[in-house]
Amino acid sequence: MRAFVKQQALPFLASLAGLERLIAGTKEPLINVFYHTVSDVYLPHIAPLYRPRNTKEFERDLDFLLQHFQPVDAHEVLLHVRNEKRIEKPSFHLSFDDGLREVYEIAMPVLLRKGVHATVFVNSGFVDNRDLFFRYKAALIAGIYPEIEEEVLNINYTERNCLDGRAQESGIYFNDFLQKQQPYLTSGQLKAWKKNGFTIGAHSEDHPQYALIPEAEQVAQTLNSCDFVQKEFAETERYFAFPFSAAGVSDCFFEKIRNSVDLTFGISGIHTAHGGRYTDRIDMETYGKNAEKCIQRAYMTRFLKQIRS
Ligand SMILES: [Zn+2]
Repeated sequence: MRAFVKQQALPFLASLAGLERLIAGTKEPLINVFYHTVSDVYLPHIAPLYRPRNTKEFERDLDFLLQHFQPVDAHEVLLHVRNEKRIEKPSFHLSFDDGLREVYEIAMPVLLRKGVHATVFVNSGFVDNRDLFFRYKAALIAGIYPEIEEEVLNINYTERNCLDGRAQESGIYFNDFLQKQQPYLTSGQLKAWKKNGFTIGAHSEDHPQYALIPEAEQVAQTLNSCDFVQKEFAETERYFAFPFSAAGVSDCFFEKIRNSVDLTFGISGIHTAHGGRYTDRIDMETYGKNAEKCIQRAYMTRFLKQIRS
């Protein structure tokens, strides 16, 4: 029944209700939406994990968003969730996770043309293609050996070293891939991104599942990556997006980062918590095929939660 509600009934109910009514009904005019990348070509490190939008689909998404919402930057989100300056008009904040190079090469020209602000959340360990996210390693192995796809994609952060062993046995060289593919943004691209008026936030050092690491390590991953962004790119406000999700993070964690991080972002739709220190985002690559579906679904989920509580 639950699965039916999620997959079938929710989008249907949302389309009946209409977006304007849902925005009014939830009294939440601000949404945070996020993608990882935009690509017109096959990306072997990403293909087994999710399907990114191509340029046309991304532009269509932005056109839909701009029709119903006005773009705002991370600072305006911060003031809104802290109740310092509430946003009244329907608005959206766009962000990208994982610091992938297409954000600069493909998305940025579109954003500049359409006048949309965005924040990119980077892993300090991966900027300049210094290392590769363990999920991308798993995806590369799965792409070559589909028969072990399920097995390698199930390998978690604490088991990640075995991916290097697997690759070595199979003659896959991650360093070669990093050099040839250059999947990540470089420091130079990030500086140019910032010069164009966009924002840079942190996304941990090497993208662990926070639920699987001790709290001291969660704090260190968070603060070290925020320090990196501040130092390298002179960002004055410290924004952080949880790698994967904020699952497994306690109130105590939020207490420990309270004075060192301005705002944290999750991935669970439309929701704010921890006294204005945490706000969720809509995962556009997972929620639906286009912006209209993703956003209606997120608002409907929020609306149903509100009437249940
Ligand atoms: Zn991520």
